[in-house]
Amino acid sequence: EMFGQLTSGFETAWNKLRGVDVLTKENIAEPMRDIRRALLEADVSLPVVRRFVQSVTDRAIGADLIRGVRPDQQLVKIVHDELVQLMGGEVSDLVFAKSGPTVILLAGLQGVGKTTVCAKLAFYLKKLGKSCMLVACDVYRPAAIDQLKILGEQVGVPVHSEGTNVKPSQIARNGVEEAKKKNIDVIVIDTAGRLQIDKAMMDELKEVKQAVNPTEALLVVDAMTGQEAAALVTTFNIEIGITGAILTKLDGDSRGGAALSVKEVSGKPIKLVGRGERMDDLELFYPERMAGRILGMGDVLSLVEKAEEVMKKEDAEEMQKKIMSANFDFNDFLKQTRMVAKMGSMSKILGMIPGMSKVTPAQIREAEKNLEFMESMINAMYPEEREKPELLAESRERRRRVAKESGKTEQQVSQLVAQLFEMRARMKKLMGVMQGGSIPALSD
Ligand code: GDP
Repeated sequence: EMFGQLTSGFETAWNKLRGVDVLTKENIAEPMRDIRRALLEADVSLPVVRRFVQSVTDRAIGADLIRGVRPDQQLVKIVHDELVQLMGGEVSDLVFAKSGPTVILLAGLQGVGKTTVCAKLAFYLKKLGKSCMLVACDVYRPAAIDQLKILGEQVGVPVHSEGTNVKPSQIARNGVEEAKKKNIDVIVIDTAGRLQIDKAMMDELKEVKQAVNPTEALLVVDAMTGQEAAALVTTFNIEIGITGAILTKLDGDSRGGAALSVKEVSGKPIKLVGRGERMDDLELFYPERMAGRILGMGDVLSLVEKAEEVMKKEDAEEMQKKIMSANFDFNDFLKQTRMVAKMGSMSKILGMIPGMSKVTPAQIREAEKNLEFMESMINAMYPEEREKPELLAESRERRRRVAKESGKTEQQVSQLVAQLFEMRARMKKLMGVMQGGSIPALSD
């Protein structure tokens, strides 16, 4: 079972939450220690584990209760979402050149499965309807060239090779020229690996890269090497600049450290994974699916998602009712601003509104500051003042107090109160329209 140890480590954590009513700092401490241990045993790099545990803890403690969902199930969902984020969130597709052939440069240490990946990649591309050519640039191992030729024949793609006496950068350049003449869509370049990183290998890679200006430069790493794989991706990226990684041997008893560390450590995504020795064992890396597999709790995840959706819908409906009743108070005001904040940053939202795409960053910052501004004033109000804004409208004393406590001016508090009443008035007008009353004259 892939990542079996990790999966059972997580299970230990969930089980400790059976019977609790709500996630608290205290009752998640031990499960979080289990999660931490499971990740370290899976060979996830320590800084990654630390950050992960911290963000899961923060989210768990601040999480709202969801009806019909047990706290342990809620934690499963939180861990799942954070795992997805850790692995890069979205799937990271292969990029193809907009014009001319796509060149994919493959690098990697010896034995990681690079030659196999070349052929698998060709097979994968053929399935996408793209023609493909392999180029053999590993001039140090004649056996590697032969192997590439055999594999190329197996998957039915041509292999460009020039023996062992031509410079790899030259072979690569010639390969690309030949492919262009033959109108081939994608060229996959196999380069020489070493047992360890050394300067000669890096220099040669840089030269090949310069010669062909690849669309994708991918480092092939072995999942069995755990966090070492992530370190390699980082080094190669710094040294030669890469666009992502291909993780091989995920079918073996790899523990998960590589899959979970690469993106976070190196900043580069895993684009493809190899899960066996067959030619069709290469697929895109889906963080979401991977997280699901690691947790092995598909039912729980969909349960929580559905429950969350229902909650969101009910919240929105309640808010709408409240707005329509024209009793909109400062609590609703706060809820609404928080809802907006939850939906993403102001800038994103503004960008989604047609006609708003031209707002400047300065304007966006201004709007965001405004929200914070209002929040701090509302936070300084007494509960009864939030429910009955009239109290604030009637009493200068109260407005002064709110101003003082929130560090704002009296005028700013007055403005906020006025704004709320203005909103109420607008709602009332709107209600009149919607209930079939006469359309009020819009005086302003
Ligand atoms: P290279 O030195 O990087 O070119 O590595 P090779 O492509 O020659 O592969 C080294 C060994 O790993 C071979 O025995 C392959 O069959 C094996 N191998 C490659 N990819 C995978 C994989 O995804 N899963 C498994 N189980 N073995 C693989």
